[in-house]
Amino acid sequence: MRTYEVITYGCQMNVHDSERIAGVLTDAGYAPADPGTQADVVVFNTCAVRENADNRLYGNLGHLAPVKLAHPGMQIAVGGCMAQKDRQVVVDKAPWVDVVFGTNNLGSLPVLLERARVEAEAQVEILESLERFPSTLPTRRDSAYAAWVSVSVGCNNTCTFCIVPALRGKESDRRPGDILAEVRALVDEGVQEITLLGQNVNSYGVEFGDRGAFAKLLRACGGIDGLERVRFTSPHPAAFTDDVIAAMAETPNVMPSLHMPLQSGSDTVLKAMRRSYRSEKFLGILDRVRAAIPHAAITTDIIVGFPGETEDDFAATLDVVRASRFSAAFTFQYSIRPGTPAATMPDQVPKEVVQERYERLVDLVGEIAWAENQKVEGQRVEVLFANGEGRKDAATHRMSGRARDNRLVHVAVPEAAQDRPRPGDLADVVISYAAPHHLNADGGLLDLRRTRGGDAWAARQSAPQAVPAGTVLGMPTLARN
Ligand code: SF4
Repeated sequence: MRTYEVITYGCQMNVHDSERIAGVLTDAGYAPADPGTQADVVVFNTCAVRENADNRLYGNLGHLAPVKLAHPGMQIAVGGCMAQKDRQVVVDKAPWVDVVFGTNNLGSLPVLLERARVEAEAQVEILESLERFPSTLPTRRDSAYAAWVSVSVGCNNTCTFCIVPALRGKESDRRPGDILAEVRALVDEGVQEITLLGQNVNSYGVEFGDRGAFAKLLRACGGIDGLERVRFTSPHPAAFTDDVIAAMAETPNVMPSLHMPLQSGSDTVLKAMRRSYRSEKFLGILDRVRAAIPHAAITTDIIVGFPGETEDDFAATLDVVRASRFSAAFTFQYSIRPGTPAATMPDQVPKEVVQERYERLVDLVGEIAWAENQKVEGQRVEVLFANGEGRKDAATHRMSGRARDNRLVHVAVPEAAQDRPRPGDLADVVISYAAPHHLNADGGLLDLRRTRGGDAWAARQSAPQAVPAGTVLGMPTLARN
């Protein structure tokens, strides 16, 4: 049986697409490669958002060229946004690549691999639009107790820094019945937590004429027995409506956390970014969310150094950050992405200016996040334990998980393995002290609940082949909307 490995760059969309790539390959008779062994098929699922993405991809392909020579029959495939963008360029630069496939035809990968083998020639197949909604593809999920569920793909916005509309096309919405059927099936398999995924979840439903569809979807998730936690990413401030806030507040299994990208606090920069909200609207949404859900943890994405950003514009961003009291922020230095309108804008900000502003922003974000985290000290919170996240500290027996508001919590757990939570289990803990980017609970477990999610995780341990072979490079960043 031929083996595979999937190497993933980029956002959650790509992480979930990699689960589909693994599912499609498994269905076609491939098996995940054992850790430490050389896979027969290496798939790169690429990202086009970061400046150095090209360098990293071609660097990795360069390392694999001699490996391929030493392993007759080995194949290399490149998919994802970079493949969609660069197409033939990939095989021109790295002629030892066997297959280049796009974001719209993940399901064709086994056929393309076979064709490349038979014809002894690289296959490049990129489709401009979706063959079928990718959720109909078989999926091998990384986690037994948490799952991504796509509500839409593509985006109808035209943010000038973003390559997504050019590469992933117009928004296509999945029907609510299909989404809920997938969620119910996942819960039946032991999944405790789902994250509804779309480039712009607030515009979900526009395609089939129901502007209230996303709020209805959240409420419908609330009616699914056994589904402990519902999250979503990412909303766009322009389309954020009060019915979504009401649905979040009134649906007990929708978690009190919100990740809403700000990108800039300057209205001039927001206009140049073609983001159709202004800072006042953004802050108004946060006020209404906090009025309805007082303990909501709010996180964001911010880009520093967008073309034309002045010191005054940057100061406006710092002002909005101070007013917003984010519990965390993903901060990015603007970098030119060929193919985006911003790439050719005048007044690109010099790198050293971007770096200096970035450092000031990171300091402020860290200071506020720490102060926000300290407010949770002494409180009892529920933690869903996770696999492979955060600190693994054998000496003090710590495990990590996420609180309901999505804060990362490191928990002191019993010494005896049988008394410890399994990934997917739930427990209440008291927060002993806060750090800028996580919380610590040193007092142990107050109320450990063995869950079906933990059972599902344990079942996977006895069937290691069920876990897809793959690597996610770097921290998966949130979709940049
Ligand atoms: S940043 Fe987000 S909302 Fe804007 S175009 Fe890209 S995907 Fe769409």
